[in-house]
Amino acid sequence: MATEHRLTATASPGGLLFTCEDDLCGRRLVIDRQTGEMTVIDHGDRAALHSGSIGGVVLATPDVT
Ligand SMILES: [Zn+2]
Repeated sequence: MATEHRLTATASPGGLLFTCEDDLCGRRLVIDRQTGEMTVIDHGDRAALHSGSIGGVVLATPDVT
């Protein structure tokens, strides 16, 4: 049983910061604007499915373990 969480994107100096809207989860990740590389800061709820979008760019479900 996977719960779906939504990620909210915020522009930050290091790139696009995605924060999970679920307070109990706290997943955070940053996507570098230039390389598109994704860096997970906080894993949060690993069992949850995370999805989010910004400006027409749709994030695939991150597959980070
Ligand atoms: Zn979450």
